[in-house]
Amino acid sequence: MKALQYRTIGAAPEVVTVPDPEPGPGQVLLKVTAAGVCHSDIAVMSWPAEGFPYDLPLTLGHEGVGTVAALGPGTTGVREGDAVAVYGPWGCGRCAKCAEGKENYCLRADELGIRPPGLGAPGAIAEYLLVDDPRHLVPLDGLDPVAAVPLTDAGLTPYHAVKRALPKLVPGSTAVVIGTGGLGHVAIQLLRALTPARVVALDVSEDKLRLAREVGAHETVLSDDAAPAAVRELTGGLGAQAVFDFVGAAPTVQTAGAVAAVEAEVVIVGIGGGTLPVGFGVLPFEVSVSAPYWGSRAELQEVLALARAGAVSVHTETFSLDEAPRAYERLHAGTVNGRAVILPNG
Ligand code: NAD
Ligand code: ZN
Ligand code: ZN
Repeated sequence: MKALQYRTIGAAPEVVTVPDPEPGPGQVLLKVTAAGVCHSDIAVMSWPAEGFPYDLPLTLGHEGVGTVAALGPGTTGVREGDAVAVYGPWGCGRCAKCAEGKENYCLRADELGIRPPGLGAPGAIAEYLLVDDPRHLVPLDGLDPVAAVPLTDAGLTPYHAVKRALPKLVPGSTAVVIGTGGLGHVAIQLLRALTPARVVALDVSEDKLRLAREVGAHETVLSDDAAPAAVRELTGGLGAQAVFDFVGAAPTVQTAGAVAAVEAEVVIVGIGGGTLPVGFGVLPFEVSVSAPYWGSRAELQEVLALARAGAVSVHTETFSLDEAPRAYERLHAGTVNGRAVILPNG
């Protein structure tokens, strides 16, 4: 089959032919309908050889939907032809966190060498994807595969981030979204669907800010040195009750801290390497800062339910598998509006 692989440190990913995967005991083989392109892959491909955590070549893609093509010996719970979305952060399924459905925080995944597809295990930007266990599969139940596939990360990750801030987003409150790309433009919609907060979106690109307004941001602000003062002014000097940073670079985490109100929730989702100091008098009183990873299995079901109810719709641009390297170039250049989605069998 054809697959998009990251093969050499520092080189662009390539479309190559690899052996067709065969499902082993307990596994499920999916024929991939759609696979999403995430900025985290660009971060992975920028890491140096020293300390690189995954074996190469690595088939990319940690957002996947497909139809069940074959079951391994003894696999039960899904049937050939079922249309499903893949929950990506695989865990052991047994530890205390996995028991809560929080396989993204599995306590034993590292020790057992369990890796998400596309982030260690062979990923979804390929004609077929092996899934370790049917519990990682959620039925699409009528959702369009292209519109649904980004929900497995670009939907689930902001959903988890927004959910923890819900108690603070009361009527009259403000939520700030920094970086309105794949994850951020879904975050805006989640905030509008789940809270009465006023949503202020920040980005460096006018195109992205236009999309932010289209999907529900009340206000947009260009993300520069003047942004913190502009956001403060929009909030009558008080700041925002929740700040979601989908860039996570030094200047944006600084902005996140600078626009936080007393008792605000600051969630750093982007992996841009920025750090935000916390200590008495450094931030307003009782600000909580967290850096979460992905979301739980239950939260994926909740995001898909929200999409079925029409409350979130991802803006997508589709590419064939042969065009997949181009999708990564475009994402790197900042010219994808919404999420790029690869159709490996399209
Ligand atoms: P994306 O490229 O689609 O979106 C990023 C957006 O940020 C773009 O619109 C870009 O114009 C904007 N931006 C860049 N610099 C900015 C600045 N200084 N101020 C404001 N906006 C700026 O990326 P994505 O796929 O949505 O991913 C967003 C981030 O989240 C990445 O760092 C990614 O690695 C990370 N991520 C984290 C998790 C997690 O579990 N923590 C999961 C998925 C993605
Ligand atoms: Zn991702
Ligand atoms: Zn576990």
